[in-house]
Amino acid sequence: MPRDKHNISRAQVSENALKVLYRLHKGGFDAYLVGGCVRDLLLGLEPKDFDVATNASPEQIKSLFSNCRLIGRRFRLAHVVFGRDVIEVATFRGHHPDEDESSPKGHSKQSKEGLLLRDNVYGSIEEDAQRRDFTVNAMYYSIADFAIYDFANGVKDLEAGVLRLIGDPETRYREDPVRMLRAIRFATKLGLRIEDSSRVPIAKLAHLLDNIPPARLFEEFLKLFLHGKAEANFLGLYEYGLFGYFVPQLKSALKNADSFEYRMVHQLFKDTDTRINGGKGVTPAYLFAALLWYPVNAHAEQLAQEGGLAEYDALQIAAADVVAKQSRSIAIPKRFSLPARDIWALQHRLQQTQPRKAERLLTHPKFRAGYDFLLLRSRIEGDAELASLGQFWTEFQKGKEVGGAPTRQARGPGARNAEDAPKRRRRPRRRKPADKPQDS
Ligand code: ATP
Ligand code: MG
Repeated sequence: MPRDKHNISRAQVSENALKVLYRLHKGGFDAYLVGGCVRDLLLGLEPKDFDVATNASPEQIKSLFSNCRLIGRRFRLAHVVFGRDVIEVATFRGHHPDEDESSPKGHSKQSKEGLLLRDNVYGSIEEDAQRRDFTVNAMYYSIADFAIYDFANGVKDLEAGVLRLIGDPETRYREDPVRMLRAIRFATKLGLRIEDSSRVPIAKLAHLLDNIPPARLFEEFLKLFLHGKAEANFLGLYEYGLFGYFVPQLKSALKNADSFEYRMVHQLFKDTDTRINGGKGVTPAYLFAALLWYPVNAHAEQLAQEGGLAEYDALQIAAADVVAKQSRSIAIPKRFSLPARDIWALQHRLQQTQPRKAERLLTHPKFRAGYDFLLLRSRIEGDAELASLGQFWTEFQKGKEVGGAPTRQARGPGARNAEDAPKRRRRPRRRKPADKPQDS
């Protein structure tokens, strides 16, 4: 598609991406924008990032850019770094030799289930296009002639509103089951219909998500649920039986759409979209707190009954167990699982409404999240006690705003530490053997 037949102009491309394209071009290599950025520009959307594809090898790319580092094992890539902006540059991928498993140089590798473990065979731009996931993701914008090269009829599919895998769908899903998640995500993000032959195998192959490393599923989870389409993605994933693989501990409860679990998840994602589309942030900690609350609660109750533990202790143990179990599916970094546990603990602590305690709780760093979650629970469960507790906290905060004791913000961020410090000092210091030389 020559320049005068499409709407993409260089003014829409980031300066850094243009620098990379020109440098490669001047170095005698082919250089293209590829993937989501070309697709989004054709649709009149603003791309999230700009990816570059080239016939230069990773080493050749590195020698052209001083600000370049090579990354990735499964998929070797060059990152050209401009401060906080990173342009990803990939060498064209080629076809895999048939004897994948025993590929002599170890450039490609496939598991028994057909999963691609390594994908570092280089090739031509046509081959590169064949290895991409969807036709609308296999369009290239050339810096040499500003034309769009469309090897898989992506332009036609985009115009028809169709999301279609390249090649045999079942084979492509087996190579990389995350493509099933991507299918749902692109369909909702771009308003495309998943074409039948790409849609039908999903339910049957959903179980392959069990083989995806938890760190990768975490990344996909964020892309699905933190970009303003959480509800649509949830409903789409649910329809194809994919959602349960993110949160196995909810799998059986979610089968019943009237359950607290289902309604909690659905409402959570609706609220998430409202916040994000209203320009407010959402932390993954809150999402995990809400998703796992009922499993944590059920487990805590069981521990309390069987082990005779106090309610709060049972909750702490249950929280640790449930997070550990969850981390086998989605790796939740500690910076999110710890605040999630705070939010759970607050569900108990917020029951303490005596003025002194209540005032202290207002200064808890996770108070707001804990309070929001209390309100969410109250909406889901329709429980009168929870509702009046929520009401209490709403009123209590209002009262403070109008002129009660200063809040944490008013006293400054150091206030809480200062309060806690004397308590800490009272604890006996444990001395490690390594400390001794310094002490003497
Ligand atoms: P967005 O960035 O908006 O989520 P994108 O299409 O740019 O969408 P990326 O994950 O950034 O998605 O990937 C860039 C390109 O790399 C894709 O457009 C596609 O061509 C290719 N690609 C990414 N992941 C896969 C995959 N799992 N299998 C095949 N090709 C892929
Ligand atoms: Mg992208």
